[in-house]
Amino acid sequence: MEDGKYLNAAQREFLVPKAYNAALRAGAAILDVYEKQGIKNGHAQNKMKGEAFKTTLATAYPDSRLVVTKETMTVEGMIKIVYELLKDKLNIAKITFTSGVNAGSAEFDTKNNIERCPLCGISLNEKGVCPKCGYRK
Ligand SMILES: [Zn+2]
Repeated sequence: MEDGKYLNAAQREFLVPKAYNAALRAGAAILDVYEKQGIKNGHAQNKMKGEAFKTTLATAYPDSRLVVTKETMTVEGMIKIVYELLKDKLNIAKITFTSGVNAGSAEFDTKNNIERCPLCGISLNEKGVCPKCGYRK
């Protein structure tokens, strides 16, 4: 291990609890701001509440309008988080995120063998026809 690049065990032991406590304080400070601005339970014009969820990469606290993530909020991180969240619900073949000039894309092996339109990538209907462009196999 290269010196100065990684923390040694003693440094980690010293820093990790401090970093964790700092994160907790930051979270409490954010909630405090939400509370003071009267938006903790949603802005008057937006009372919509998202779904509570917990995956290995992200936990949502809809009451507080917060999602705590283990990944950084880069396009690559977003792809990982979204894939982890939806992989059991959807047959995800590809995810692309763009944010300003940053773009990230990842392809995944699908669990179900769904026949897709070679032109649009949309799954063909039971007659083997693409519902978007009308392609027939
Ligand atoms: Zn098509």
